[in-house]
Amino acid sequence: RTFEALGLSSALLRTLETSGYTVPTPIQEQAIPLILAGHDVLGAAQTGTGKTAAFGLPLLQRLAKETPPKGPRKPRALILVPTRELAVQVAESIKDYGRHLRLNVTTVFGGAGMQPQIENLRRGVDVLVACPGRLLDHMDSGHAKLDAVEVLVLDEADRMLDMGFMPSIKRILSRVPKERQTLLFSATFEDRIKALAIEHMRKPRLVEV
Ligand code: AMP
Repeated sequence: RTFEALGLSSALLRTLETSGYTVPTPIQEQAIPLILAGHDVLGAAQTGTGKTAAFGLPLLQRLAKETPPKGPRKPRALILVPTRELAVQVAESIKDYGRHLRLNVTTVFGGAGMQPQIENLRRGVDVLVACPGRLLDHMDSGHAKLDAVEVLVLDEADRMLDMGFMPSIKRILSRVPKERQTLLFSATFEDRIKALAIEHMRKPRLVEV
């Protein structure tokens, strides 16, 4: 299989080629066509399997289809992650995969100043990569508005639950439009992950690698 056969746009195919990605990983092969078709996807995958590109590439393709309006923009994709390190890493990958697209990617996480993050949010964001606690702070102060979110990704959902983020995630989910695509990645499909999926996803397709 090739990336082309998965349905990715020529702009993204060129980027992958220059990055030296020649063959899709198993999670990419299974998840990319489902995500491009608009399905919710529940993926069981560890770090190192290529899961960031598995959700990042189709997410970018969806956002790039419409030319963003001029002026400050509200996030159309929200990626929730458990840690600051993962936020930085995921945002770097998304920026890299989207380097030929005109999309703004930014991060919010705790343990860093609020002000630079507020300025980034003010400048306009298409893809927001966030840790739940700090995102709630920005929502409560009115700096992060989630009413334009079309794609929600819960990355390393099991770790987020281990860290006690369930109440925060529920609050965030209550502020994201119901009409959206939801992608959930977790190393395991334990009961609490299944419960989260049943409550917040629409006919999720299962992908296990
Ligand atoms: P991840 O599981 O998303 O953290 O990705 C693990 C590593 O694999 C990252 O360094 C990616 O840049 C790399 N990677 C992801 N997909 C591919 C691919 N199809 N071909 C080569 N490298 C890849």
